[in-house]
Amino acid sequence: MTGNSLDRHVPLYAQRTAGMRASAVRSLFAVANRPEVVSLAGGMPYLKSLPLEAVAAEAAALVSQDGLVALQYGSGQGIAELREQICQVMSLEGIVAHPDDVVVTVGSQMALDLTTRIFCDPGDVILAEAPSYVGALSTFTAYQATVVHVAMDDDGLVPEALEAAIDSVRRSGRRAKFLYTIPNFHNPAGVTLSAERRVRIAQLCREAGIPVLEDNPYGLLGFDDTVHRAIRADDADNVIYLGSFSKTFAPGLRVGWVLAPHAVREKLVLANESATLNPPVFNQMLISRYLAGFDWQGQIKAYRQTYAERRDAMIGALTAHMPAGTTWTHPEGGFYVWVTLPEGFDTAAMLPRAVTARVAYVPGTAFYHDGLGARQMRLSFCYPTPERIVEGVRRLAGVLESELDV
Ligand code: PMP
Repeated sequence: MTGNSLDRHVPLYAQRTAGMRASAVRSLFAVANRPEVVSLAGGMPYLKSLPLEAVAAEAAALVSQDGLVALQYGSGQGIAELREQICQVMSLEGIVAHPDDVVVTVGSQMALDLTTRIFCDPGDVILAEAPSYVGALSTFTAYQATVVHVAMDDDGLVPEALEAAIDSVRRSGRRAKFLYTIPNFHNPAGVTLSAERRVRIAQLCREAGIPVLEDNPYGLLGFDDTVHRAIRADDADNVIYLGSFSKTFAPGLRVGWVLAPHAVREKLVLANESATLNPPVFNQMLISRYLAGFDWQGQIKAYRQTYAERRDAMIGALTAHMPAGTTWTHPEGGFYVWVTLPEGFDTAAMLPRAVTARVAYVPGTAFYHDGLGARQMRLSFCYPTPERIVEGVRRLAGVLESELDV
């Protein structure tokens, strides 16, 4: 097909496509994946410690023993056995839940999409941390919602800022549809919401009649083995909780879940059915067998150890090489460090020069709805080896020095 015949359809697009742009992360992948570039950009888990042969044997056994079920259509809510196991996983975070209230989704990304679909009409307000997960922001944009950012500090979302945001939305005659928050090992900010703030934030949202959308893919990846109590653990009625196997097992299987109050859960199942008919049965059954037959908590410990070494390598290299006036967060888990450069830097403008210097990162502006974040960047330490991380940070520091020389 020629370019012209493709262009012909542009006037037919729905208005909601106007906000759909290639994310900075995605357009970077092609360049950043070249072997000579140290990519501190992507958020790919490091899968080499997975017991691949054993998982392969399990997949083969699944087909030969249960293939007629595993390869068939399934339930729009997800298979019952996995939903029960998901409740056990969530119990590590203090959550008491019934499998009936869990909906399995195609990654937690799909859960974000379905939740936004259920709650948001064009122009509706969503409260979200500043900065926030780029994939959530692009979903909110796709549904033409308006994101109102709420400030964070080293202890996560600031309750006073939330209160002010709730009030200001209310004064404009509206009520935010939900608060989107990533309490643990934030993407991209790398910080964790304190226990006191969890209680306060849940209370503020409950009083204002605004549900909390608690997105928690990294919660079990605390480097000192701390598992923080979920917001959902103390508020079953007003919290919609999202979980995922992407970071604790494997993202390629695309299996996540939502735990939601009863009425919301019913809508989610309907939305799931209309979007995908059902989440992949084979992948759910494989995960179910993995949880039943493997030391999955041991595997998570191995992941924690790998990522902790990489975090240490990154923080050490930042301390050794970054120019004066640069600050960064100190993640206690997860994948990301959030770096703030001195006044005058523009991380988006600098990125091509960084890639020429064979290092990549994600510019801060990707994580804001409103163009903020010009002198910030997200560095991820999940995928490259510690040696490559140190080399990448050294290269980055070289780029910053030459920007200062100009
Ligand atoms: N939420 C956050 C905060 C994430 O970082 C990610 C993945 N990077 C997701 C949701 C989506 O994860 P998945 O769809 O793989 O479960």
